[in-house]
Amino acid sequence: MMNTLPGNKTRIVCTIGPASDSPETLERMIQAGMNVARLNFSHGDFDIHARVIERIRAASEKTGRRVAILADLPGPKMRIGDFGKEPVVLEKGARFILTTQDVVGDGQQVSITMKELPQAVKPGDMLYLNDGLIQLRVEGVEGDEIHCIVITGGELRSRKGLNVPGIDLGTSAFTERDRECMAFALAHGVDAVSQSFVSSAEDVEAVRRAAREMGHDPFVIAKIERSKIIDVIDSIIEAADGIMVARGDLGVELPIEKIAIAQKYITRRANIQGRPVITATQMLESMTHNRRPTRAEATDVANAILDGTDAVMLSEESAMGDYPLESVEMLVRIATATEPYIHRGQFMQPFVAADDASPVDILASSIDEIVQKMKPSAVFAPTDSGTTARSVTRYRLPCWIFAPSTSEKTCRDLMFSWGVYPICRKDKPEQWGGLVKGYLQDFGIRGDSALVVEGPSKAHPVANHRLELIDLAGH
Ligand code: PEP
Repeated sequence: MMNTLPGNKTRIVCTIGPASDSPETLERMIQAGMNVARLNFSHGDFDIHARVIERIRAASEKTGRRVAILADLPGPKMRIGDFGKEPVVLEKGARFILTTQDVVGDGQQVSITMKELPQAVKPGDMLYLNDGLIQLRVEGVEGDEIHCIVITGGELRSRKGLNVPGIDLGTSAFTERDRECMAFALAHGVDAVSQSFVSSAEDVEAVRRAAREMGHDPFVIAKIERSKIIDVIDSIIEAADGIMVARGDLGVELPIEKIAIAQKYITRRANIQGRPVITATQMLESMTHNRRPTRAEATDVANAILDGTDAVMLSEESAMGDYPLESVEMLVRIATATEPYIHRGQFMQPFVAADDASPVDILASSIDEIVQKMKPSAVFAPTDSGTTARSVTRYRLPCWIFAPSTSEKTCRDLMFSWGVYPICRKDKPEQWGGLVKGYLQDFGIRGDSALVVEGPSKAHPVANHRLELIDLAGH
């Protein structure tokens, strides 16, 4: 049977929730183009997550399509406590108290989870509730109580998020709750974890260290959602395997008018280091309840792809919306229509010009040149860790990069990377010599040539590059 390649090279990440966790919907979403299933550990209990993981694996098996599973760890997200009666309406100009005491909330006060907060804020600081829709200004602190004035009012419900942009609580992003969630997720076989509210490379390393102590080696994704980390973004990207531009919280931490430039900058820095980027939140928000997105949403998805994102993500749209399948199909349609217009030159410059280009960088740039001149119909990059394929795909080649590997883990890690088609093989790489033509036939790819690339091995980081252009036309 002939294998089919997707029409789109951009990866599709879908948050799974009540709207999408049935076996049938999961199968249909995988068939439609979902590459990564995200489980949000801020919601749902472990029993539900265990059942969903099992169903995703079963649906992947049934459809014959590889899907990576991403456990999104909650991190130190601050939340308000419960109200006795809700919603509570906060009026502009009213006084409102946030307290670390365990009180039942009402129109005058509500409890908060972060015990350190009263010590960390000062008069004049701004606090944001419910994704920034409600704004409070700190007037003063009395013991455990933060006294505020409502600057922008609105309706408030229990357990809503609280953001305090720019304030350093001096706590690690990786909390005890994250450790519990990660232990559970890894024991149930998830492939990747994303850490919320990362502040530094050390936060990312803490996650990786803890995973290794648990006997696992997941793909570690740093969620970029704190404004102050833009200054240390390169070290965070270097420590992580991939990043997520988490625009929900980032859009509260940063003035909203700065979010577009921040997204472009973060994406570019990750492209330069060859780390996959997921662009997240509100991509097709209106499809939560509508069959079609707005023009602005469709344009947002396309622009993220043109700017170099590897993956686009659905949140509420797929977790609790009325049209989870249609949302996946819409992302695929937008990606397919947009990818031919990626301005490939813009991806090349920073790597070629870099003085400190590594052997893999130089190899990737040579591959790009060969692809431009010789127009092979595919690139084959056998891989141990996926590094060569990730490095080459920065150039957004017009053809697919096939990445045969003996490691299923590497293949699942590559589900985050634009334009890479991983192939897991049980036989030894020495036996892969004659595979290329067979795969091209299998995928129905025609053309005069294919390019085989072998990256530097661990033993010989410089000496063992190999580039071979295979003549398919038989001349
Ligand atoms: C975000 O803030 O954009 C995000 C993806 O994180 P969460 O869904 O955990 O708020």
